[in-house]
Amino acid sequence: MPNSIHVLPVHIANQIAAGEVIQRPSSAVKELLENAVDAGATDIQLVIEDAGKSLVQVIDNGKGMGAEDAVNCFQRHATSKIGEIEDLFRIKTMGFRGEALASIAAVAQVALKTRPHDQELGTAIELENSVITSTASCACSAGTSISMKNLFFNVPARRNFLKSNTVELRHITDEFLHVALAFPEVSFSMTSNGQESYHLDKGTLKQRIVQVMGNSYASRLVQVEEKTDYLNVTGFIGKPDTARKTRGEQYLFVNRRFIRSAYLNHAIVTAYEELLPQGSFPFFVLFIELDPAHIDINVHPTKQEIKFDDDKIVYAFIKSAIRHALAQFSIAPALDFELDPSIQQLDAVSKPFTADQQQQARSGGLYKTFVDRHQAHRIESSSNLKNWKDFFETAPKETSAQQGDLEGLTVTAPMDSPPLHSCLHVQKTYIVTEAADGVRLIHHQLAHQQILFEKFNKAWEGAPIPIQRALFPQAIHTAPSDEQLLESIRPDLLQMGYELESFGKNSFLLNGTPADHPNENSAAIIEMILEDVKDATSKLHSAYRERIAKALARKHAVRPGTSLTATEMHSLVEQLFNCKQSKIHFDGRPIYMQIGNQQLYDVFGS
Ligand code: ADP
Ligand code: MG
Repeated sequence: MPNSIHVLPVHIANQIAAGEVIQRPSSAVKELLENAVDAGATDIQLVIEDAGKSLVQVIDNGKGMGAEDAVNCFQRHATSKIGEIEDLFRIKTMGFRGEALASIAAVAQVALKTRPHDQELGTAIELENSVITSTASCACSAGTSISMKNLFFNVPARRNFLKSNTVELRHITDEFLHVALAFPEVSFSMTSNGQESYHLDKGTLKQRIVQVMGNSYASRLVQVEEKTDYLNVTGFIGKPDTARKTRGEQYLFVNRRFIRSAYLNHAIVTAYEELLPQGSFPFFVLFIELDPAHIDINVHPTKQEIKFDDDKIVYAFIKSAIRHALAQFSIAPALDFELDPSIQQLDAVSKPFTADQQQQARSGGLYKTFVDRHQAHRIESSSNLKNWKDFFETAPKETSAQQGDLEGLTVTAPMDSPPLHSCLHVQKTYIVTEAADGVRLIHHQLAHQQILFEKFNKAWEGAPIPIQRALFPQAIHTAPSDEQLLESIRPDLLQMGYELESFGKNSFLLNGTPADHPNENSAAIIEMILEDVKDATSKLHSAYRERIAKALARKHAVRPGTSLTATEMHSLVEQLFNCKQSKIHFDGRPIYMQIGNQQLYDVFGS
């Protein structure tokens, strides 16, 4: 019997190994773009022919290679990026295995031209089947150009496995965008069959996102920025009303490397919680940065998966970073609330995230406690992590005899109803109260807003808000273009207690206002609602209604710095815990903080 085991010829073995690294044209795109970034390029051009099947070329203005490196870089495990094994744990560059160029050279025809900036002449090298077929000095621009031609020309079985041009080009575009989004300080272009499909100037991340996704994103982004010694999370997320039915526009990077992680995606999506319509996916471009020693990027050959030392911390941190960001965006209108409506329409006012607004948002004491810098350090051990999660997860829902009382806070409770808990008002902003398993610190404004929001939302379901008829109806004038819109939300406003009558010529009369919520400036409220609804990107009626309910809740809730009587506090606490959603405010912030008995015990030991 002839021997059936034999050693594979080297070039076949190489082709098999190469096939793991370069599975399709887009794998070469990723590797070549990453090499260009690693080489410090500030301008990178990607040229594609025939969906990369006949040509993938990357031209960069990076540091280039000398004649010797130009030859060596095609050897397997040739890399300038790792010296010793310890380096493996401190990788900061994109590539490090020294496999990409060797693999490309094993499965395609390759042409390299490269020149370091301080040398006059460059080097031109051609290879086929891993073998150098020509080397020459050449005049070329500083930097590197690598062309990969006729991928799998020598491995027909693999070539046959490539998908249609549309599919392969889609993969290439994905890889291109992953790198382009991660490095906004580098200019990129992509040309396919002679047509430029992307031309991305260098700029800020926000500019890059807008360039890639389109101008409409400019006003739809919420900035995320949380930094600690352990971990940074930065980037942009889409406002809730920009969520899509498909998962497409989600970009997560760890140390600027694009990754896929169902686990971390889950953290992001749950942070939006009830802000997102069912079955829709938020847009995000998020960067996690942490010491490479805490991650292992070797888990997956194409390096899109990642393992963290402690992924629960990363999960909790991302979730709170997103919540914080969402809260800041939603809080903005509330901060501007007292402004004249004509001022509110100004861009500078209606767009959130000015440094001032962020400052104001941050100074809200409650969430300082949970989004403070260095917070990650407090959740280092898994037992602490549990407490951290309690902020979000524990919300004992108490039912009580006073259930269903959704009257305004000023209504006095019957004298004989004994208080359930003793309440203490702190800084005219927080209510400290006893809970079954500990102590709660409730932000009175957020609590009241949530109560009112749910109350107004209920009004849609057939419990209209009682109306107080006006003795002297106020006139409301709208811009001609807004008349139609106000007319269309008139029935909704009526449910909310605002009775408007069309008066012709862009005018309306306000005949009645909510009886429970007297406010002299009802006309301004209507105008504010109109502005808010106008901004809604979703023209769905339900989206209008929700905005109206939120706007009214913000307008009518008690503000920080207001004194509350004991009865008002009790009523507020009772109503809060009769809410459907009593722990998280509709704009994403926690409404109260809880210190559990166990935590008290941990601290005091008895
Ligand atoms: P790795 O990137 O993992 O080191 P590669 O096979 O991708 O391995 O590249 C091998 C080496 O070739 C790199 O370490 C680098 O020194 C050099 N190199 C590759 N591409 C470029 C480039 N565009 N500009 C300068 N040097 C490059
Ligand atoms: Mg590389």
